[in-house]
Amino acid sequence: MAPNPSNWRNMIQERPKRGVPEGLWRRCPGCQATIFRKEAERRFGVCPECDYHWYVSARDRIGQLLDEGTFEEWDAELEPADPLNFVDKAPYRDKLKQEQARTGLKDAAVTGAGMIRARRVAFGVTDSAFIMGSMGSVVGEKLTRLTERAVEQHLPLIIVSGSGGGARMHEGMLSLMQMAKISAALARYHSAGGLYISVLTNPTMGGVAASFASLGDLIFAEPRALIGFAGPRTIKATIRIELPKGFQTSEFLLEHGFIDRIVPRQNLKSEIARTIDYCGK
Ligand SMILES: [Zn+2]
Repeated sequence: MAPNPSNWRNMIQERPKRGVPEGLWRRCPGCQATIFRKEAERRFGVCPECDYHWYVSARDRIGQLLDEGTFEEWDAELEPADPLNFVDKAPYRDKLKQEQARTGLKDAAVTGAGMIRARRVAFGVTDSAFIMGSMGSVVGEKLTRLTERAVEQHLPLIIVSGSGGGARMHEGMLSLMQMAKISAALARYHSAGGLYISVLTNPTMGGVAASFASLGDLIFAEPRALIGFAGPRTIKATIRIELPKGFQTSEFLLEHGFIDRIVPRQNLKSEIARTIDYCGK
């Protein structure tokens, strides 16, 4: 049972806009219950009261899905540049430094190889804490190399998307061209007979949703994830009609045939392993 929130209010730290809050307790945005942090972690960041799926970092995702100690990172040295000398609220160069210090990541994607219940896979994950998980040149290049190595080494390919930002505006056209680059690599992977499982998490939007995240042979999604291209507010303002209930959620997209299966986070590892076996890969 969750403790009475009024007793614990002074112990709760408010959840920051992005990233993981510190403290003994965390408040569930799904049901507002106050959950013991250890309990939430034990359940892979899923609320015991309402099954809300919290944000998990790329590193935690690797810990949850891959067999312990089996992950070998690829292209860890790739770092973003600032070819356009882009400035919005702050120079992109400075923003990158801040995000790197805050998240411990060089950019929004981590890629490599590892084992899922003793099956070797090529594995990539994007982290929505790093500039909303948006896809710049580094994310695009890392995922493309991951896909190319999956072809060479005949590995199943698993990419977990958590990208609210789509393509990264700070890199302009160089960001947008990553969509085509990864899609071409995935087409070659497909021709080579590989199995690509795309796992969509909250949120998967924009240029990420419109490229690699939607190109899986199988597309899994976590429950109640926001998945779409443009955000609901933008669409509503453009077409000026009421959007249907549940629009752009995993459940809505499953019903409309856009994704294949909704998999709760605790079952994800087993489901991926089972699917690899089922497909004979
Ligand atoms: Zn909850």
